[in-house]
Amino acid sequence: MVRLIDSHAHLEDIKDLKNSLQRASEAGVAAIIAVGSNHDSNRFVLEVSSRSWGDLKVYPALGVHPWEISRSQVEKAVAFIKEKVNRAVGIGEVGLDYWYREVRENPEMMAKQRSLFRTFLKIAKRHDKPVIIHSRGAWNDCLNLVIEEDVKDAVFHWFTGPDNTLQRLLDHGYYVSATPAAEYSREHRRVIQKTPIENLLLETDSPVNYRGFEAEPADIIRSLHAVAKLKGISIEAVAEETSENASSLFNIDI
Ligand SMILES: [Zn+2]
Repeated sequence: MVRLIDSHAHLEDIKDLKNSLQRASEAGVAAIIAVGSNHDSNRFVLEVSSRSWGDLKVYPALGVHPWEISRSQVEKAVAFIKEKVNRAVGIGEVGLDYWYREVRENPEMMAKQRSLFRTFLKIAKRHDKPVIIHSRGAWNDCLNLVIEEDVKDAVFHWFTGPDNTLQRLLDHGYYVSATPAAEYSREHRRVIQKTPIENLLLETDSPVNYRGFEAEPADIIRSLHAVAKLKGISIEAVAEETSENASSLFNIDI
């Protein structure tokens, strides 16, 4: 049976987590990276990863999502992350999002996002942790900051950025992760086709809604099948290679 790693899921937002993780385990998921988005979710991922889930392992990553930046508790979240960083397998979900006009037309907000992202990149660098990056609409700025801060390991999650940014991130040895949107999103499919399997991870970004269905970690099977089809590689080979990549990036055993 294949052993998969869902490298990006928001477990605090999943209904009926226990059964959902059971289904993931039955689908062949060996490990999940539970990403944090804000102070409460960071506390949650630490707690949920300390529980036993049978054969399935849950590993925590700590971060503040760029959408959360205008809410309160950002400083509290940063202090908490600095204190708990050794328990995390990565820093994320962090990054920049210029997709929405309110942000794009607000230079102050963009600067605020960059400054917080830089703080997280410095924490990752200091503690030698990989970074899980949200880069929508801000692909080039994200990559520039990661390179500037000399971060060694990073995954650009659900990447849909332009070819030249993709090529540069691959040249630096960074990863890209594929979601179930690989079934239909033109931009995401282009990225997966151009990314060598050595630089690919699988994920679900659960519980994101993909064209009418709310994802849970078991839906990583859809990411797996879509990637295998796009790249013309067997399902087994994609599973093996992407799990190996995730296990080496996050320094975890599966
Ligand atoms: Zn996410």
